[in-house]
Amino acid sequence: RAGNHIQALSFEVKIMGKDPVAPIRSFEHAGLHPAMLENVTLCGYHIPTPIQSYTIPAVLTGHDVVGIAQTGIQGSGKTAAYLIPILSRLMGKARILAAPRPNPARYNPMTDRVRAEPLVLIVCPTRELACQIFDEARRLCYRTMLRPCVVYGGAPSKLQREQLEMGCDVLVATPGRLMDFMSNLNLLSLHRLKYTVIDEADELLSQGWEEIMDKLFAGSAVSEDADHTYLMFSATFPKAARKLARDYMEDDHVRIKVGRVG
Ligand code: ADP
Ligand code: MG
Repeated sequence: RAGNHIQALSFEVKIMGKDPVAPIRSFEHAGLHPAMLENVTLCGYHIPTPIQSYTIPAVLTGHDVVGIAQTGIQGSGKTAAYLIPILSRLMGKARILAAPRPNPARYNPMTDRVRAEPLVLIVCPTRELACQIFDEARRLCYRTMLRPCVVYGGAPSKLQREQLEMGCDVLVATPGRLMDFMSNLNLLSLHRLKYTVIDEADELLSQGWEEIMDKLFAGSAVSEDADHTYLMFSATFPKAARKLARDYMEDDHVRIKVGRVG
């Protein structure tokens, strides 16, 4: 099962899975939507990082992904690794994006309420991380129809609720606040969800969110989409995370392990 190794920069990437994907060497030849390629360039990204060079083609070809980046490896570009291919695929699906949306120029928060029906859900353990992911999502959605939102605890929910009510395609959330909003189905529904990303899964699991993660991963309970894509990123791959991958991911899911060399 263990496949090829590449060594780039100071990282080593090991890839496992039934259906090996060829890594991309450049963003230009990755088959990205033109709007995404433009935004990647605007972000100043010219060369894919090792985790990106494997994750992008894996997601573009419809695979579930487990990404394991060993602790201490900062700045491996994990966030963009999943956001770029997910958002790129959605940019090519105008029909999916034709959900009800208010006219932003004439938006009146008192009257124009839209139930948020995100296509992408990204769950992460902290407010700081949620805000970083949201920032990156906003840059990568620039000048497209995709609307990112972020919800997290430890802050009043009014503003977050108003943002959701303007419509949301990409939701970044910490689990507690997500559960709060999900309990009000007039506000947030996950029935259109196509992608679920768990970022820093080991952290979330060790914080006791195991049951919630299980619920979110139980795609049928959450989404009507039969080919729902699951992605999980983690510093380690504990038993509970392996169980999630085993229970919910497709057999041909790709496992990408990034480690520091030496
Ligand atoms: P990780 O979560 O893996 O530690 P991040 O996703 O937070 O890494 O990315 C770290 C930094 O690297 C961010 O500032 C991001 O904008 C930047 N970055 C991501 N991909 C690239 C790239 N291909 N080229 C240059 N910078 C990148
Ligand atoms: Mg990060």
